[in-house]
Amino acid sequence: FAPWKDDAAVPLIRIDQVSKRFGDFTAIDKISLNIYPQEFFALLGPSGCGKTTLMRMLAGFEKPSGGVISIDGQDMVTVPPNKRAVNMMFQSYALFPHLSVWDNIAFGLRRDGLDKDRVAARVEEMLKLVQLGQFARRKPHQISGGQRQRVALARSLAKAPKLLLLDEPLGALDKKLRQETQFELMDIQEKTGTTFVIVTHDQEEAMTVASRVAVMDQGKLIQVETPQVIYEQPNSVYVADFIGDVNLIPGSVSELGGGAALAWAEGKPPLLGQPGASLAKGQNATFAIRPEKIAISAEEPQDRNNRVQGKILEIGYLGNLSTYHVELPEGPVIKCEVGNRSRVERRDFTWEDEVWLSWSDTAGLVLAR
Ligand code: ATP
Repeated sequence: FAPWKDDAAVPLIRIDQVSKRFGDFTAIDKISLNIYPQEFFALLGPSGCGKTTLMRMLAGFEKPSGGVISIDGQDMVTVPPNKRAVNMMFQSYALFPHLSVWDNIAFGLRRDGLDKDRVAARVEEMLKLVQLGQFARRKPHQISGGQRQRVALARSLAKAPKLLLLDEPLGALDKKLRQETQFELMDIQEKTGTTFVIVTHDQEEAMTVASRVAVMDQGKLIQVETPQVIYEQPNSVYVADFIGDVNLIPGSVSELGGGAALAWAEGKPPLLGQPGASLAKGQNATFAIRPEKIAISAEEPQDRNNRVQGKILEIGYLGNLSTYHVELPEGPVIKCEVGNRSRVERRDFTWEDEVWLSWSDTAGLVLAR
């Protein structure tokens, strides 16, 4: 199910040329973006890139300085936060400390004047969804951080919003719990079918939970794609470098056709890779190659065009894989990662060993600089 690929699909959220200025500072710079029903969408970028500002405009806490936001076909310009089919869950969860889990979840439903039976039915449904039935009578301080997070989620979903905004929802949890909770979040999103938009600066989190990720930089959208495309086909050095580990080798484009060739060192054959967007022959460019796409061998691999020789500087043993930092005489240090699953994959190299690094013609990208 990939609604963003379907021309006939109707977006839940349309963000059209939206800007936000604070004084003369531009926090959001003419962003256009559609988000579809049932998507789990992540806004990802370094601190200060404007993620929270964009989310606050969706919630109605900030007004755009320019452009149009519409939700479910309606222009939001004059619609206050409490009249939007949107809820926002904050990092602090903002649970009422004196109310039980049950009453926290019931709070918004009661405020809306729902009758007792309907409140009870909905609260029970939410408790079941987040698997907290047995904790219904406890106060927030009597449950764990992960459980508090689930209460906050249940409370945010109780009124069945079309859109739930989650601002760093797992930021307060430690790493292991965070990873477990990511899967719960995905499960709950799928069960409710609510559109989730999550703000995070944690790229692994965005890649794990989201159906699509928007990578932002200084108020601009740089790439909006599925996690796989963001990782495999980053549209820029910025995205390649922001997501995961990557080797970046500078040079200039020497050939351009079905593939691209990058001249990178005097007298050495060019590196071959997939061409990125807006490349021209002769221009400065960067070769981007992920560490796990590089093979390491003692002998020269004659069957591969992309092969370079160097000396091992550093070895890291991480259990499931080993990393090697290999210094090329031409200058760059290349990181490669080799799985330790089997003895065939695992090689026993040591420091100072002369080795060959090689990769296929389609494993790397030549990106404009
Ligand atoms: P973080 O991950 O640190 O929360 P972010 O990507 O969410 O960062 P925003 O909070 O959206 O970033 O802020 C974007 C930029 O806009 C920052 O430079 C911030 O200082 C500025 N900014 C945000 N709100 C205001 C405001 N009310 N007045 C002035 N500047 C603001």
